[in-house]
Amino acid sequence: MLTTTQTIAWLDNFADKIETNKAYLNDLDTPIGDGDHGSNMVRGLTAVKAALADKGEADVTTAFKTIAMALISKVGGAAGPLYGTAFLEMAKTSKAGNADLASLIAAALAGLKKRGGAVAGDKTLIDVWTPVLAAVRANQLTPTVIKTAVESTKPMVAKKGRASYLGDRSVGHLDPGAVSSGDLFTALLETVVQS
Ligand code: ADP
Ligand code: MG
Repeated sequence: MLTTTQTIAWLDNFADKIETNKAYLNDLDTPIGDGDHGSNMVRGLTAVKAALADKGEADVTTAFKTIAMALISKVGGAAGPLYGTAFLEMAKTSKAGNADLASLIAAALAGLKKRGGAVAGDKTLIDVWTPVLAAVRANQLTPTVIKTAVESTKPMVAKKGRASYLGDRSVGHLDPGAVSSGDLFTALLETVVQS
């Protein structure tokens, strides 16, 4: 079961990673997008940190809802509604009494697929969430699992989002959303799974 304290620590760590990687994420989004993924995510996560600090000691469902609303209203682009949906689905699942990691990530992934219409292999953040869910279910989430998932997007042809406009020319680039999702799960490993 994920606690509110763990959730806040997870998102704070994620926000730190995204701030550190802002320029890198923008650079990844430049050849196959519009160069804003790092800036979008920093804007959203700054809002997340402020909103969580405002809420004080809320329950885990409220924390997820707060995170989702901040992301939806501040990230913008494709990634805002997608990450927002992921955390909104975690809020719903935790409200129904399932706050274990596998249930949370499974609900979020189902929401991401429904919202964006992407499947595994389309060169999106789904290509990170899918193997991470399998690893969490098997209790085997490691930095290597995350790194392998992120790097799997490099040879893929983008089928969704802006990168899909490039067709075959999207090959050879990491997907920026996959990289930010890699940061999300590395933060999870550092704050929750290993704690
Ligand atoms: P935008 O593309 O609107 O500029 P961002 O640059 O912030 O938004 O986010 C781009 C990332 O969003 C991509 O790298 C990809 O991982 C993800 N993405 C875009 N469209 C989809 C989709 N339909 N389904 C899943 N993920 C998507
Ligand atoms: Mg972009």
